[in-house]
Formats: sequence, C-alpha cells, structure tokens
Amino acid sequence: MLKIENLQVAYGGIQALRGIDLEVPDGKIVTLIGANGAGKSTTLRTISGLVKATAGSITYDGTELLGKPINQILAAGIAQVPEGRRVFANLTVLENLKAGAYLRKDKDGIEKDIKWVYELFPRLEERSWQLSGTLSGGEQQMLAVGRGLMSRPKVLMMDEPSLGLAPLVVQGIFEIIREINRQGVTILLIEQNANMALKTADLAYVLETGRITMKGTGAELLADESVKEAYLGKKRK
Ligand code: ATP
Repeated sequence: MLKIENLQVAYGGIQALRGIDLEVPDGKIVTLIGANGAGKSTTLRTISGLVKATAGSITYDGTELLGKPINQILAAGIAQVPEGRRVFANLTVLENLKAGAYLRKDKDGIEKDIKWVYELFPRLEERSWQLSGTLSGGEQQMLAVGRGLMSRPKVLMMDEPSLGLAPLVVQGIFEIIREINRQGVTILLIEQNANMALKTADLAYVLETGRITMKGTGAELLADESVKEAYLGKKRK
C-alpha cells in the first residue's frame, strides 16, 4: 500500500500542503478531487520526487520514499503519467514507449509490455512510426499513459487525464483506466472532472487549500450534498 502521512509542502513562504494523509490500497482506484490550486498536482509531484516536502512521510509497503531520488521511486513501482500529456514530440510513438522503459534492462519484458500497451491502445500500434507531436490530443494522452505503463508500475498516478479532451475521448480514457486497474495496476488519479472520477474510483479524497476535508468511497462522495454543490455543479435542494 502507498501511504502518505502528514505531508507538508511549501513553495517559498506559501504552504501548498498542510499535512495531508492519504491511503492508496493495492489494486484500487483512488481519486483526489479539488478546485484549482488545492494542491492536487503538488501531491502527485511530491510522491514522484519532483517536489521536496518540508515534513511527513510517503511509504510504499513500509519503505520510506520521501527524499529518495526520482529513479528510486520509479524503481519502487510508482510512476506518474506525464502532466499535460507531455510526450517527446520529435520521437515516434514507439520511441516514446521505449523511453518509458529507460530504467529497465529486461529486453524481453520490454517487448512484451510494448505489445501490452498496443493491445490496450490499438490506435497507438497503427501509429507506431508517427512523430508524436503530430498525434491528436486524445492520442497523445493515450501515449502518455502508455509511456507511464512501460515502467511496469505497481501504482500509476495520473494528473488530469481528461483535460482538454472531447467527452467521447474522455469516456474512452476512463474505460482504459478501469481496464489497466483490472489488470492489476493500482491507480491514483487527480481530476477536475469530479463526476467521472468519483464514478470510477473505489476511494476518494477531497482536497481544499492543502488539507483533506473529506474521504469516502466514490459513491459516497458522489451522493454527498456538499460535494455535489462544490464539485458537481448541482445546487442544494
Ligand atoms: P490545478 O487543478 O489548478 O492544477 P492543483 O490542485 O493541482 O491545481 P497545485 O498545482 O498543486 O494545485 O498548486 C497548489 C498551490 O501551490 C497553488 O497555490 C499554486 O499556485 C502553488 N504552486 C504550485 N507550484 C508552485 C511552484 N512551483 N512555485 C510556487 N507556487 C506553486
């Protein structure tokens, strides 16, 4: 289990995370919802080792990861899909996937996982030799997820995978998130599309200005009046 305790992060004098606790049990889909600036990206970036924490602890199966170098966190099985579907525009689809496996030495395993990603995203296989910068937005998001999977993570973290995508494409991305999870990968998802995220998640947390203010199952939060009002655009009756 990925476990975060009393995590605190400050940018200069500004406290972005004020001591958050999160549990991401193996095999689950966990979502973190919250308004702009609540600290969602900061949480993922701190777990990935991109942002330094001022206090707290991040453990995976009891091993402390906080303060460890990025490669070590990745090697422990925690991967983040690049934000804003950032892919290497000048590399082909296949080269991008191989880049996602850069820490691995098992050639056979890498080949197998390229096949796995192509099974999940047949569209990427068709476009294997295309330069990634010329892919559509939805295809770039698929590639970003595929690249994240190429490290064979135990936990895959995703930062707003639905951002800027058409509703049908968003549906497809959430279906693939469920499928990846069914195949044994634990998911930590942050989303502004709270409706889709809560429908998909087993467990959900609400983050408000650097604090967790609510937790429950996806269904519980979906039915909660204050969540409806604040995040689902529905008025209280
Ligand atoms: P959004 O959905 O808008 O991306 P978020 O919940 O992901 O929001 P964060 O990006 O984690 O929020 O930001 C939390 C707070 O920390 C915000 O007030 C933001 O302005 C601030 N912040 C984030 N990154 C930095 C940085 N590199 N330097 C200074 N302040 C930052």
